[in-house]
Amino acid sequence: MGLLEEAMGLSIYTAYNTNVDAITFLNGEIVQALIEEFGAETVRKRMDDYPREINEPLDFVARLVHALKTGKPMAVPLVNEELHTWFDSHFKYDVERMGGQAGIIANLLANLDFRRVIVYTPHLARKQAEMFVDKPNLFYPVIEDGRLAFKHPREAYREGDPIKVNRIFEFRAGTTFRLGDETIRVPFSGRFIVSARFESIRIYTEPELKRFLPEIGLQVDGAILSGYQGIKLRYSDGKDANHYLREAKKDILLLKREKDVRVHLEFASIQNRELRKKVIYNLFPLVDSVGMDEAEIAHVLNALGYSKLAERIFTYNRIEDTVLGGKILVDEMNLEVLQIHTIYYIMYITHSDNPLSEEELRSSLELATTLAAARASLGDIKSPEDIKVGTRVPYNEYGEFVKLRFEEAKRRLRTREYKVVIIPTRLVRNPVSTVGLGDTISAGAFTSYLAMLRKKGEL
Ligand code: AMP
Repeated sequence: MGLLEEAMGLSIYTAYNTNVDAITFLNGEIVQALIEEFGAETVRKRMDDYPREINEPLDFVARLVHALKTGKPMAVPLVNEELHTWFDSHFKYDVERMGGQAGIIANLLANLDFRRVIVYTPHLARKQAEMFVDKPNLFYPVIEDGRLAFKHPREAYREGDPIKVNRIFEFRAGTTFRLGDETIRVPFSGRFIVSARFESIRIYTEPELKRFLPEIGLQVDGAILSGYQGIKLRYSDGKDANHYLREAKKDILLLKREKDVRVHLEFASIQNRELRKKVIYNLFPLVDSVGMDEAEIAHVLNALGYSKLAERIFTYNRIEDTVLGGKILVDEMNLEVLQIHTIYYIMYITHSDNPLSEEELRSSLELATTLAAARASLGDIKSPEDIKVGTRVPYNEYGEFVKLRFEEAKRRLRTREYKVVIIPTRLVRNPVSTVGLGDTISAGAFTSYLAMLRKKGEL
């Protein structure tokens, strides 16, 4: 509890993405019915095409079955707004809750009783605002009489703002269905996200607020930024990804102008290669910390031109390759810290001059996985007390194997110029929900990292 208490003393700014998650819990029958509707052969063919966007229902079914087969969490953009009626006629939504990394992280840190959590999202419809937890430490920045002020997000909503609804399909390990003559058994619990990508939803800071970012930077101990995957390459009003990324760069520089506030970027899967590359090259060099999962590190390495290494990570999931990839990324983008979370382990890679010791870095990851295990067990973290549930979740069955492989990797690779630490994850066998676990890991890791920096006078 000690490290969490230290982290709770921090004030954090988080932006940009929030949405409403409409969650459906899948079972074998639902999936089977979808396959029957389109025919197994047709579904299989479309799976081979591997559509990067959802334009018609068959794209959805194909990518869903693919995700179920691998058991890997996936998010695919929905670009055809008309499909909402198809989804509404096929699924009923079991739960609606806060979605989007910034929204999830804001609620998490507010529930953990952090000193102050300032959350900014450019679109704040009433329904979206109501998804924020009712906590007195949670604030939304507003401009009143030309001055910066703070309100609870529920008091700051704007009637008429657009609202983004993502459809989330939660699946459980062991779910079984047939695709023609093939029997598919889902290997891991996870979720498939159909993320709405419409014109009206943008990732930016409103111009009136932008000039107050230095003031916000002064008021916080760290910032967690996310949502760049929601940028589109082109908009009908002529704006494009370059425009939004230039603005995103300015935001980071403005936050850091008065005080070099540490910035963590939480990277999410970006299907479009061109956009992925732009986000990496524009933003990684400006931030201090980056978090991502294993599939994403492979994508990032691919974008940087390391296609063979990326391919190896995709195919074999070897720790050694992930460490190598992490070293490359930390070097090329000159990150202070890179955090990679996978189903079986979490890793930090820093340069050897990082102010924290390997022991301290490990304790930060410990806190991260314990928080995620608590969330997976409970569905949500409502108070700092809830972390206790996480401490009772055992490390995954491959824990010892992970440590062994890691020691081997360290011997084979040159790691003297780095600090590389790894811990096995505490894995909940039957998670209530898997949405937001990665965000929980990253928020827990980054804030506890900051807490230890602060203790050393490095913040
Ligand atoms: P992401 O893919 O970014 O949402 O991250 C998911 C992360 O959550 C994984 O890398 C695991 O470390 C963690 N996780 C996934 N499933 C579970 C579970 N059942 N119990 C605890 N942690 C989990």
